[in-house]
Amino acid sequence: VSFGYTDVTPSEKTARVGDVFRSVAARYDLMNDAMSGGMHRLWKDHFVRRVAPRPGEQILDMAGGTGDIAFRLAARGTRVTVADINAAMLEVGMQRATKRGINGLVWTEANAEVLAFPDRQFDAYTIAFGIRNVTDIPAALREARRVLKRGGRFFCLEFSTTTWPGFADVYDAYSHRLVPKLGKLLANDEASYRYLIESIRRFPDMPAFKAMIEEAGFVQVKAEPILGGLVAIHSGWKI
Ligand code: SAM
Repeated sequence: VSFGYTDVTPSEKTARVGDVFRSVAARYDLMNDAMSGGMHRLWKDHFVRRVAPRPGEQILDMAGGTGDIAFRLAARGTRVTVADINAAMLEVGMQRATKRGINGLVWTEANAEVLAFPDRQFDAYTIAFGIRNVTDIPAALREARRVLKRGGRFFCLEFSTTTWPGFADVYDAYSHRLVPKLGKLLANDEASYRYLIESIRRFPDMPAFKAMIEEAGFVQVKAEPILGGLVAIHSGWKI
Protein backbone atom coordinates (compact mmCIF):
# COMPACT_ATOMS: atom_id res chain seq x y z
CA VAL A 1 0.00 0.00 0.00
CA SER A 2 1.10 3.59 -0.35
CA PHE A 3 2.18 5.93 2.40
CA GLY A 4 2.33 9.15 0.45
CA TYR A 5 4.63 8.36 -2.48
CA THR A 6 6.32 5.49 -0.64
CA ASP A 7 5.24 1.85 -0.85
CA VAL A 8 4.97 0.20 2.55
CA THR A 9 3.33 -2.85 4.12
CA PRO A 10 -0.23 -2.39 5.45
CA SER A 11 0.83 -2.53 9.10
CA GLU A 12 3.62 -0.04 8.42
CA LYS A 13 1.13 2.36 6.83
CA THR A 14 -1.18 2.19 9.85
CA ALA A 15 1.76 2.79 12.19
CA ARG A 16 3.13 5.70 10.17
CA VAL A 17 -0.29 7.37 9.88
CA GLY A 18 -0.49 7.00 13.65
CA ASP A 19 2.83 8.83 13.98
CA VAL A 20 1.64 11.62 11.69
CA PHE A 21 -1.51 12.37 13.68
CA ARG A 22 0.18 11.97 17.06
CA SER A 23 2.68 14.52 15.82
CA VAL A 24 0.19 17.03 14.38
CA ALA A 25 -2.58 16.69 17.02
CA ALA A 26 -1.57 19.68 19.13
CA ARG A 27 -1.28 21.98 16.11
CA TYR A 28 -3.96 20.35 13.98
CA ASP A 29 -6.57 23.10 14.14
CA LEU A 30 -4.11 25.92 13.56
CA MET A 31 -2.63 24.11 10.59
CA ASN A 32 -6.00 23.49 8.96
CA ASP A 33 -6.72 27.19 9.06
CA ALA A 34 -3.25 28.09 7.80
CA MET A 35 -3.23 25.62 4.92
CA SER A 36 -6.75 26.18 3.66
CA GLY A 37 -6.95 29.89 4.41
CA GLY A 38 -9.83 29.07 6.73
CA MET A 39 -11.78 27.43 3.90
CA HIS A 40 -11.97 24.05 5.66
CA ARG A 41 -14.55 25.64 7.97
CA LEU A 42 -16.83 26.45 5.04
CA TRP A 43 -16.38 22.98 3.54
CA LYS A 44 -17.29 21.41 6.87
CA ASP A 45 -20.35 23.66 7.28
CA HIS A 46 -21.49 22.72 3.79
CA PHE A 47 -20.83 19.03 4.45
CA VAL A 48 -22.96 19.02 7.59
CA ARG A 49 -25.77 20.81 5.71
CA ARG A 50 -25.66 17.99 3.16
CA VAL A 51 -25.85 15.36 5.91
CA ALA A 52 -29.03 17.20 7.01
CA PRO A 53 -28.98 15.81 10.54
CA ARG A 54 -32.28 15.65 12.40
CA PRO A 55 -32.58 15.98 16.17
CA GLY A 56 -32.30 12.65 17.96
CA GLU A 57 -30.53 10.85 15.14
CA GLN A 58 -27.58 8.65 16.01
CA ILE A 59 -24.55 9.57 13.97
CA LEU A 60 -21.13 7.99 13.86
CA ASP A 61 -18.41 10.51 13.01
CA MET A 62 -15.54 8.26 11.97
CA ALA A 63 -11.97 9.54 11.96
CA GLY A 64 -13.54 12.38 13.90
CA GLY A 65 -10.20 13.64 15.22
CA THR A 66 -10.51 16.86 17.16
CA GLY A 67 -14.28 17.07 16.73
CA ASP A 68 -14.84 19.59 13.92
CA ILE A 69 -17.67 17.61 12.31
CA ALA A 70 -19.01 16.18 15.56
CA PHE A 71 -19.46 19.63 17.13
CA ARG A 72 -21.43 20.80 14.10
CA LEU A 73 -23.62 17.67 14.17
CA ALA A 74 -24.19 17.95 17.92
CA ALA A 75 -25.31 21.57 17.48
CA ARG A 76 -28.19 20.16 15.39
CA GLY A 77 -29.39 18.03 18.28
CA THR A 78 -28.04 14.67 17.14
CA ARG A 79 -26.43 12.01 19.30
CA VAL A 80 -22.88 11.76 18.06
CA THR A 81 -20.27 9.09 18.55
CA VAL A 82 -16.80 10.31 17.62
CA ALA A 83 -14.47 7.48 16.67
CA ASP A 84 -10.80 7.80 15.79
CA ILE A 85 -7.85 5.44 15.75
CA ASN A 86 -5.62 8.05 17.37
CA ALA A 87 -5.85 8.73 21.11
CA ALA A 88 -3.88 11.98 20.80
CA MET A 89 -6.40 13.48 18.35
CA LEU A 90 -9.32 12.37 20.55
CA GLU A 91 -7.63 13.88 23.59
CA VAL A 92 -7.42 17.30 21.87
CA GLY A 93 -11.05 16.91 20.78
CA MET A 94 -12.27 16.14 24.29
CA GLN A 95 -10.42 19.15 25.66
CA ARG A 96 -12.00 21.37 23.00
CA ALA A 97 -15.46 20.02 23.86
CA THR A 98 -14.93 20.81 27.54
CA LYS A 99 -13.68 24.29 26.73
CA ARG A 100 -16.70 25.01 24.55
CA GLY A 101 -19.15 23.47 26.98
CA ILE A 102 -20.28 20.81 24.51
CA ASN A 103 -21.59 17.77 26.37
CA GLY A 104 -23.02 14.40 25.49
CA LEU A 105 -20.61 13.30 22.79
CA VAL A 106 -19.29 9.76 23.03
CA TRP A 107 -15.56 9.54 22.25
CA THR A 108 -14.13 6.19 21.30
CA GLU A 109 -10.86 4.83 19.96
CA ALA A 110 -11.57 2.67 16.93
CA ASN A 111 -10.11 1.57 13.63
CA ALA A 112 -12.56 2.28 10.79
CA GLU A 113 -11.67 -1.11 9.26
CA VAL A 114 -12.99 -3.17 12.20
CA LEU A 115 -15.77 -1.64 14.28
CA ALA A 116 -17.08 -3.06 17.54
CA PHE A 117 -20.55 -1.52 17.04
CA PRO A 118 -23.46 -3.86 16.37
CA ASP A 119 -25.11 -4.02 12.93
CA ARG A 120 -27.60 -1.26 12.02
CA GLN A 121 -26.92 1.08 14.94
CA PHE A 122 -26.58 4.46 13.19
CA ASP A 123 -28.77 6.74 11.08
CA ALA A 124 -25.77 8.32 9.41
CA TYR A 125 -22.02 7.76 9.11
CA THR A 126 -19.73 10.69 8.42
CA ILE A 127 -16.02 10.71 7.67
CA ALA A 128 -14.20 13.96 6.91
CA PHE A 129 -10.63 14.07 5.65
CA GLY A 130 -10.21 10.62 7.16
CA ILE A 131 -10.76 7.95 4.54
CA ARG A 132 -7.55 8.59 2.60
CA ASN A 133 -5.56 7.81 5.74
CA VAL A 134 -7.22 4.42 6.19
CA THR A 135 -5.07 1.48 5.11
CA ASP A 136 -7.86 -0.85 3.90
CA ILE A 137 -10.47 1.51 2.45
CA PRO A 138 -12.81 -1.21 1.08
CA ALA A 139 -12.93 -2.78 4.56
CA ALA A 140 -13.81 0.60 6.12
CA LEU A 141 -16.60 1.15 3.57
CA ARG A 142 -18.05 -2.30 4.28
CA GLU A 143 -17.99 -1.58 8.01
CA ALA A 144 -19.69 1.77 7.42
CA ARG A 145 -22.51 0.01 5.65
CA ARG A 146 -22.77 -2.70 8.29
CA VAL A 147 -23.25 -0.30 11.22
CA LEU A 148 -25.86 1.80 9.35
CA LYS A 149 -29.58 1.18 9.71
CA ARG A 150 -31.58 0.43 6.59
CA GLY A 151 -32.22 3.82 5.04
CA GLY A 152 -29.05 5.07 6.70
CA ARG A 153 -26.76 7.44 4.86
CA PHE A 154 -23.04 7.59 4.26
CA PHE A 155 -21.24 10.91 3.81
CA CYS A 156 -17.57 11.40 3.08
CA LEU A 157 -15.72 14.72 2.79
CA GLU A 158 -12.29 14.31 1.26
CA PHE A 159 -9.74 15.93 -1.00
CA SER A 160 -10.06 14.73 -4.55
CA THR A 161 -8.84 15.86 -7.97
CA THR A 162 -10.00 19.17 -9.36
CA THR A 163 -11.10 19.09 -12.96
CA TRP A 164 -10.33 22.82 -13.44
CA PRO A 165 -7.07 22.60 -15.44
CA GLY A 166 -5.37 25.90 -14.55
CA PHE A 167 -6.42 25.59 -10.96
CA ALA A 168 -5.00 22.06 -10.74
CA ASP A 169 -1.55 23.35 -11.69
CA VAL A 170 -1.63 26.22 -9.21
CA TYR A 171 -2.84 23.94 -6.46
CA ASP A 172 -0.20 21.34 -7.23
CA ALA A 173 2.60 23.86 -7.02
CA TYR A 174 1.14 25.40 -3.87
CA SER A 175 0.63 22.14 -2.09
CA HIS A 176 3.93 20.50 -2.92
CA ARG A 177 6.11 23.52 -2.30
CA LEU A 178 4.32 25.53 0.32
CA VAL A 179 2.48 23.11 2.57
CA PRO A 180 5.56 21.22 3.81
CA LYS A 181 7.22 24.59 4.44
CA LEU A 182 4.19 25.77 6.40
CA GLY A 183 4.36 22.51 8.34
CA LYS A 184 7.95 23.21 9.18
CA LEU A 185 7.36 26.81 10.12
CA LEU A 186 4.20 26.45 12.19
CA ALA A 187 4.47 22.95 13.59
CA ASN A 188 8.14 22.10 13.12
CA ASP A 189 7.05 19.01 11.21
CA GLU A 190 7.78 19.02 7.50
CA ALA A 191 7.53 15.26 6.97
CA SER A 192 3.98 14.92 8.26
CA TYR A 193 2.71 17.65 5.99
CA ARG A 194 4.58 16.18 3.06
CA TYR A 195 2.72 12.92 3.70
CA LEU A 196 -0.64 14.70 3.91
CA ILE A 197 -0.10 16.30 0.50
CA GLU A 198 1.25 13.15 -1.12
CA SER A 199 -1.69 11.15 0.21
CA ILE A 200 -4.07 13.62 -1.44
CA ARG A 201 -2.35 13.07 -4.78
CA ARG A 202 -2.52 9.31 -4.38
CA PHE A 203 -6.21 9.21 -3.48
CA PRO A 204 -8.60 7.91 -6.21
CA ASP A 205 -10.44 10.54 -8.27
CA MET A 206 -14.21 11.02 -8.02
CA PRO A 207 -15.35 8.29 -10.47
CA ALA A 208 -12.94 5.75 -8.96
CA PHE A 209 -13.91 6.48 -5.36
CA LYS A 210 -17.61 6.48 -6.26
CA ALA A 211 -17.12 3.00 -7.71
CA MET A 212 -15.49 1.83 -4.46
CA ILE A 213 -18.50 3.05 -2.47
CA GLU A 214 -20.85 1.21 -4.82
CA GLU A 215 -18.68 -1.88 -4.52
CA ALA A 216 -19.29 -1.80 -0.75
CA GLY A 217 -23.03 -2.09 -1.42
CA PHE A 218 -24.25 1.49 -1.16
CA VAL A 219 -26.87 2.74 -3.61
CA GLN A 220 -27.64 6.15 -5.15
CA VAL A 221 -23.98 7.02 -4.76
CA LYS A 222 -23.15 10.60 -5.70
CA ALA A 223 -20.06 12.76 -5.85
CA GLU A 224 -20.46 16.49 -5.33
CA PRO A 225 -17.37 18.46 -6.33
CA ILE A 226 -16.26 21.59 -4.47
CA LEU A 227 -13.82 23.87 -6.32
CA GLY A 228 -14.04 21.59 -9.33
CA GLY A 229 -13.31 18.54 -7.19
CA LEU A 230 -10.35 19.79 -5.17
CA VAL A 231 -12.59 18.64 -2.36
CA ALA A 232 -15.56 16.33 -2.84
CA ILE A 233 -18.55 15.09 -0.90
CA HIS A 234 -19.40 11.47 -1.66
CA SER A 235 -22.69 10.12 -0.39
CA GLY A 236 -24.67 6.92 -0.58
CA TRP A 237 -27.57 5.06 1.01
CA LYS A 238 -27.93 1.70 2.63
CA ILE A 239 -31.17 -0.02 1.71
N1 SAM B 1 -12.53 14.58 10.78
C1 SAM B 1 -11.58 15.51 11.37
C2 SAM B 1 -11.62 16.82 10.64
O1 SAM B 1 -12.25 16.87 9.57
O2 SAM B 1 -11.02 17.77 11.10
C3 SAM B 1 -10.17 14.93 11.43
C4 SAM B 1 -9.51 14.62 10.12
S1 SAM B 1 -7.82 14.18 10.26
C5 SAM B 1 -7.12 14.87 8.79
C6 SAM B 1 -7.76 12.47 9.89
C7 SAM B 1 -8.09 11.57 11.06
O3 SAM B 1 -8.22 10.23 10.58
C8 SAM B 1 -7.01 11.54 12.13
O4 SAM B 1 -7.54 11.94 13.36
C9 SAM B 1 -6.57 10.08 12.15
O5 SAM B 1 -6.19 9.62 13.43
C10 SAM B 1 -7.81 9.38 11.63
N2 SAM B 1 -7.59 8.02 11.12
C11 SAM B 1 -6.61 7.61 10.30
N3 SAM B 1 -6.74 6.30 10.04
C12 SAM B 1 -7.84 5.86 10.72
C13 SAM B 1 -8.49 4.60 10.85
N4 SAM B 1 -8.03 3.51 10.23
N5 SAM B 1 -9.60 4.53 11.62
C14 SAM B 1 -10.07 5.63 12.26
N6 SAM B 1 -9.49 6.85 12.17
C15 SAM B 1 -8.39 6.97 11.41
